[in-house]
Amino acid sequence: MALEVAFPNPTGRCGGLDWRVPKLHERWLLEDGLELCPRVESVPCQPRRLVGLRPTIDRMKSITTWTSQDIRYIERTVELALGAEGRGDVPVGSVITLMDEVVSEGSARVMSEGYQPRRHAEQEALAGVPIELWPRAKEMTCYTSLEPCLMCYGSLLLCGIGRVVFGATDLLGGARFIFDTMPPYYADGRGMPTWVGPVLPEICDALYERVDARFRTLPCG
Ligand SMILES: [Zn+2]
Repeated sequence: MALEVAFPNPTGRCGGLDWRVPKLHERWLLEDGLELCPRVESVPCQPRRLVGLRPTIDRMKSITTWTSQDIRYIERTVELALGAEGRGDVPVGSVITLMDEVVSEGSARVMSEGYQPRRHAEQEALAGVPIELWPRAKEMTCYTSLEPCLMCYGSLLLCGIGRVVFGATDLLGGARFIFDTMPPYYADGRGMPTWVGPVLPEICDALYERVDARFRTLPCG
């Protein structure tokens, strides 16, 4: 792949050349070693040669097929996310199901009851799972409007949740980035939930953008 590209300067012009920027799910590898993703805030205004696209799909080890039921539950996570946003929190929602029945729901409470950095939507949903159902965790699916972070991935993994379905890919903080470097106990994939998504990026990416903007204002995140 060799595509000459140029990037916009703040005025939007670059030597009269046509330019484009990466789409949300693209990550460009450039000839001089620069990696560019949509979140790069400023880039040099000069032509560069695009030499490849990061193989995100393989690296993610995610499954990109899902059911209409999966879509329905991701839509429910969107409702929960918007509810969180309505009370001043980050827009992330989560639903946990067992045998296609909802057993728990949660939404982010990082900001709406004082600053509580651990109260991600998945954590809230996990906290609501009836204790008698935990022996069946492997049969459960955790739906979330945004790909789980490292903290939530650790919880989902240690709780034994069998499947994770997410609405939007977290390009910077998604747990998939550690899949290739798991501790030896998990090296053969033992206990790691199936990773499915992004299911509704056309809706959930916008939520992700707003989550990212809010997290940038927090003491840590
Ligand atoms: Zn999280």
